[in-house]
Amino acid sequence: MRYDVIIIGAGPGGIFSAYEMVSKSSALKIAVFESGHALENRKCPIDGEKIKSCIQCKSCSIMSGFGGAGAFSDGKYNITNDFGGTLFEHIGKTQALDLMRYVDEINMAYGGEGTKMYTTAGTHLKKMCLQNKLNLLDASVRHLGTDINYVVLENLYAEMKDKVDFYFDTPVTDVAVTQDGYRICCGDASYECDRCVISVGRSGSKWMEKVCESLDISTKSNRVDIGVRVELPAVIFSHLTDELYESKIVYRTEKFEDRVRTFCMNPYGIVVNENTNGIVTVNGHSYEDEQKQTANTNFALLVAKHFSEPFKDSNGYGESIARLSNMLGGGVIVQRFGDLVRGRRSNMKRIEEGLVTPTLAATPGDLSLVLPKRILDGIIEMIYALDKIAPGTANDDTLLYGVEVKFYNMEVDIDENLESRYKGLYVIGDGSGVTHSLSHASASGVYVARQILGQI
Ligand SMILES: Cc1cc2nc3c(=O)[nH]c(=O)nc-3n(C[C@H](O)[C@H](O)[C@H](O)COP(=O)(O)OP(=O)(O)OC[C@H]3O[C@@H](n4cnc5c(N)ncnc54)[C@H](O)[C@@H]3O)c2cc1C
Repeated sequence: MRYDVIIIGAGPGGIFSAYEMVSKSSALKIAVFESGHALENRKCPIDGEKIKSCIQCKSCSIMSGFGGAGAFSDGKYNITNDFGGTLFEHIGKTQALDLMRYVDEINMAYGGEGTKMYTTAGTHLKKMCLQNKLNLLDASVRHLGTDINYVVLENLYAEMKDKVDFYFDTPVTDVAVTQDGYRICCGDASYECDRCVISVGRSGSKWMEKVCESLDISTKSNRVDIGVRVELPAVIFSHLTDELYESKIVYRTEKFEDRVRTFCMNPYGIVVNENTNGIVTVNGHSYEDEQKQTANTNFALLVAKHFSEPFKDSNGYGESIARLSNMLGGGVIVQRFGDLVRGRRSNMKRIEEGLVTPTLAATPGDLSLVLPKRILDGIIEMIYALDKIAPGTANDDTLLYGVEVKFYNMEVDIDENLESRYKGLYVIGDGSGVTHSLSHASASGVYVARQILGQI
């Protein structure tokens, strides 16, 4: 079987790449290979009753399948160059923003209409943050919510399913360079194409590494973000979340001058498990539908760890810390802030007596046995700094779930076309290490689609 273009991975990067190509040219023969399930078959077995924690499914429905890691995400599309990736370094700031806006227009056309766009422009909260040594980053954010995000994906799939060959539950095992293009292998089957777009996200990071090794494509990896997810009563943050929905706030610690930042804020949301390559970490999301909302807001506090020579395995470092929490807690650990600063573990009784009802069934424990001191000190400092702009953040009952690790895929050596050293072999989205978000990954998909369309 031969295609004009084969896309590997049906996350936002792959989807928007396929969408842009089919909507601009009906002549192209395109296939998308996805190791996970079709959207309607994606179901995480954790129901909180019979199955309480991760059972390590062969294909994790949270991370894999049509929609990629973004399918059950909060659907926050941040339109900014300030965070979410460094796509602008390859394609320029203006173009990156234009593409993110274009992605937003498509999301609105396919079911997102009526959802809210928040912006930091002109907010008085910026001054309040600066007065307290906190830096509120500039962004516009479209919040689709987990439910509408799903609807948009359903509609995009309906639009494309007769124009693109989708192969679900079909992990690509190998990519080989041929005389006139590329051969991709899925076990015993193989398919050929003129151009290949690799968009395998975070769950495909190990596979991507292997492909780069076998094709001799350079990579570099030197960063991992480690921290906790904070959960507190939504009212404590409501003045920020009502106006901005998501506020990305950065704090520079006094002790080590490390940067600690808020990440993935979910007003009235829930805390969830996340499984990356068998390691259980924590994440969060929230629903647009008020019926599904909770009384809590959650967000991550992350400390960025950059390593220098000779150490190269930053993700391995993050994984070891996550494994330690899995070893002690059998999964994610939860601790009251008051217990953490008093140097004692949390137990079920103290958590039940607290003012914050946890939205994730995690094991009460002691995060100081898991997180390196420097990281923990940074998080505690930032909680006290946030307490000045959102009094109550440093309350004893504030819950901290650990660990949250933001793994960065190693950065693949790609040029300004997002093309590898092989003509026609593109690497996009989070799998390239260049993007770390829905909007940047999607924009990279559109960008590459336009490059390909321009050549045909
Ligand atoms: C719970 C959660 C909440 C999140 N919330 C947000 C948010 O609100 N806002 C935001 O900006 N970002 C969020 N993110 C991050 C966001 O989902 C990712 O940045 C985005 O999905 C990256 O898109 P992608 O297409 O590059 O990769 P992915 O979405 O990871 O998609 C890659 C796809 O490739 C497939 N694949 C991997 N290897 C292979 C292979 N060998 N063969 C075939 N297929 C393969 C995978 O199964 C996957 O479906 C969240 C992530 C999670 C897990």
